[in-house]
Amino acid sequence: MTDVDNAQPRVSLAQLPTPLHPLPRLTEALGGPQLYIKRDDLTGLATGGNKSRKLEFLMAAAQREGADCVITAGGPQSNHCRQTAAAAAQLGMKCHLVIGGPKDSPVLGNLLLDVLLDATLHFTAKEAREETMTRLAADMRAQGRVPYVIPVGGSNGVGALGFVAAFFELTEQMRVQGLTFDRIVFASSSGGTQAGLMLGAALCGFRGSLLGISIDNLPDEVSESKYREAVVRIANESAQLLGYGRRFEAREVLLNYDYLGGGYGVLGERERQAILRLARSEGILLGPVYTGRAFGALLDAIQRRMIEPHERVLFWHTGDETALHGYASELVAR
Ligand SMILES: *Cc1c(COP(=O)(O)O)cnc(C)c1O
Repeated sequence: MTDVDNAQPRVSLAQLPTPLHPLPRLTEALGGPQLYIKRDDLTGLATGGNKSRKLEFLMAAAQREGADCVITAGGPQSNHCRQTAAAAAQLGMKCHLVIGGPKDSPVLGNLLLDVLLDATLHFTAKEAREETMTRLAADMRAQGRVPYVIPVGGSNGVGALGFVAAFFELTEQMRVQGLTFDRIVFASSSGGTQAGLMLGAALCGFRGSLLGISIDNLPDEVSESKYREAVVRIANESAQLLGYGRRFEAREVLLNYDYLGGGYGVLGERERQAILRLARSEGILLGPVYTGRAFGALLDAIQRRMIEPHERVLFWHTGDETALHGYASELVAR
């Protein structure tokens, strides 16, 4: 038990702790750094993924408010939507998903799982996701339902608590295994994972660095500093929920924007090579949108010696291999 459990309601959805283990064959092939992996692909919520941790707090909040349905949003291959649909099924709630994509999106990968999990899909333009969620919630209230709206990616102060708790989990595993890390590298998008890890690292006295690899193109009107501010806002919201006085600043957020490739959800050669490399050296599957890109960035940083061979580095696998099936043609037909 961490302070986090005592401070906020939590419902058990994920299989925790997720394994932490070395990647010996890949480490040897690269000649260092010593690589480890945190297996949030194994959280067990309709496969796995990082949103399972956030949903333990978000769904508990929904239950506390007496909600009978949840509404959230994402792209057609959203891991967040898939895990929310699974969590709702497990807890006996209805799930409405606002999908920012064409109505005729192929029913493959995560979108197929959303359907199997009995989520109701509402297709809209990516820019219209927020207003569509608001309108749906109003419609439901008018029908006498009690909806609970979860923001895109589950990224707010409540959701990020999942990653504060995750840092306590990691710290205990490091203690047992007699390990520490110079860096932790992970895919970053709506910011809740990074915010929670930042706060957790501060609470646990972690001395290494946390490097988020940005997966999304920045919208034209949003600058990098705005995005860092969003991470900080979430971290500070979570800190407040825990009654912790520290406030973060944007310059403390380490986010790399050099690996956006062809844009959000576009599988390029870097992602493909990273997926093949980890699959063939360690038998572990990465996903096409998030972890393939973040792991490709890590491999590139190692190759360029931006990460030194003597370091010990943790890659936090955030779990998105279910989307691979939506990218079959890009992955094999070359
Ligand atoms: C959502 C997601 C992320 C990013 O997490 P945020 O909290 O949105 O930054 C990373 N990896 C995977 C697989 C995801 O689904």
